[in-house]
Amino acid sequence: MGDLRVVTREGATDALGSEVVEEFRSGLRGASLIAGDDSYEEARIIWNASADKRPALIAQCSGVADVIDAVNFAREQDLVVAIRGGGHNVAGNASCDGGLVIDLTLLNGVHVDPSARRARVGGGAVLGDVDRETQAFGLAAPLGVVSLTGVAGLTLCGGIGWLRRSHGMACDALVSVDVVIADGSLVTASKTENPDLFWGVRGGGGNFGVVTSFEFELYPVGPMVTLCAPFFPLNDGAGDVLRRWRDFMEQAPEHIASNFLFWSIPAHPNFPEELHGTPVVIPAAVHSGAVKDGESLIQPLRDLGDPVLDLSGPIPYTALQASFDPLFMKGERLNYWKSLYLDTLNDDAIGHIVARALARPNPWSLIAVWHLGGAMNRVEPTETALGERNAPFLYSLDTSWTDAADNESAIAWTREAWAEMKPFSRGGAYLNFPGHGEEGESLLRASYGSANYDRLVELKTKYDPTNLFRLNQNIPPAK
Ligand code: FAD
Repeated sequence: MGDLRVVTREGATDALGSEVVEEFRSGLRGASLIAGDDSYEEARIIWNASADKRPALIAQCSGVADVIDAVNFAREQDLVVAIRGGGHNVAGNASCDGGLVIDLTLLNGVHVDPSARRARVGGGAVLGDVDRETQAFGLAAPLGVVSLTGVAGLTLCGGIGWLRRSHGMACDALVSVDVVIADGSLVTASKTENPDLFWGVRGGGGNFGVVTSFEFELYPVGPMVTLCAPFFPLNDGAGDVLRRWRDFMEQAPEHIASNFLFWSIPAHPNFPEELHGTPVVIPAAVHSGAVKDGESLIQPLRDLGDPVLDLSGPIPYTALQASFDPLFMKGERLNYWKSLYLDTLNDDAIGHIVARALARPNPWSLIAVWHLGGAMNRVEPTETALGERNAPFLYSLDTSWTDAADNESAIAWTREAWAEMKPFSRGGAYLNFPGHGEEGESLLRASYGSANYDRLVELKTKYDPTNLFRLNQNIPPAK
């Protein structure tokens, strides 16, 4: 092997001597891949096809020791470094051109202690790994709604799913984390050990180091839950459906969580062929309490219109969690997703949303209004780094397309749609759907709140003073 062309943290190109590279690679217990290796092309692919990057080196860590070596190697060789958990990050931060990817895919073990209602989850596990193990004991951690998403990225920026109103966000269920910080040491953070770091990882993303394991509190859920999924035609009457959904959700019990979706029925065998491509609105909801109560409680949502299709009914929790998987496959489409917390869903806001929904750039692009509240609201803004969580709605523009020639227009459309909703918001975004995070500090301040942001800068300065971990919604250390 000759010298390895690499990119430094500041973006300069450089070359690493083959001996240095070989020494690092041979020390790892897991595999390490460079361009030309058999599995390199497959291993470099992450979920968002827009992020088609070619790392110099992918370290497929098999344990904490590999992670420590990888962090030390990146720091000592001044390499740009990306952390890959589930690889589902929409902003594409799990990879990089010319740098080192610390790939945690192999660290996907889940160990459940049913009597303590706790789970230890590896830093590379996906939601389905956790659901599979926890549901064996009728338990669940509150995670997201697509089972192929990584636990790590999702939890470190919050984590919202069907259990958000009954049990809070994923980061709220954290009991402790093990983190390899920038100097290569392994640190445990919990309410009693390194509590400052524990505060920071609950919302501060991958800024503070590589989380090798998460400890979650679990809650009794399932095994059956009730899904509400009527598909109504998307037309000029959609505003009225959205208004009546809003009114219903305002008084709905906390065991019901709902996302109002504007979409087109996917051209997928799971749906009747004659309906493929039909524009629809879906007041998707899940009742995660006792199944005997579910159907009657969700019925008002099914009565909001005349459905062209209705998939409502009892469903195993694990099947629910996997139900969106085939519609969001890795590397399938180009994506740009941007979000905004909304303080109101008044007629004016509804008018903008419906107009945008009727003019989506293509059938794959989804607009979602997440109804929030409940347990996730009961955590004080300063209790975790995440910040304010008292907005009643999250507006998410999940724009997806297939032809790179449409990159500019798809992104511009999303930014315009996002900007026109700002009057209904305090400007905070959910940082797992940040677009490219192109607004930098102003978006982070609005999302975390200024007090939390300043505290995050202090923490970053303490734990990562040279900003080794910068491929994220980056909080630069103080100079
Ligand atoms: P990766 O792409 O692997 O990593 C993203 C970033 O997280 C990295 O750049 C790094 O900064 C950090 N990171 C990852 N692993 C680690 C680690 N072990 N230690 C330290 N830092 C790490 N979000 C929700 O809240 N709810 C949902 O229901 C939901 N649904 C989604 C559905 C789809 C199809 C997609 C694509 C995304 C969804 N998201 C959802 C957003 C998702 O939470 C983020 O994209 C998140 O970044 C994915 O985590 P990951 O581990 O797969 O990310």
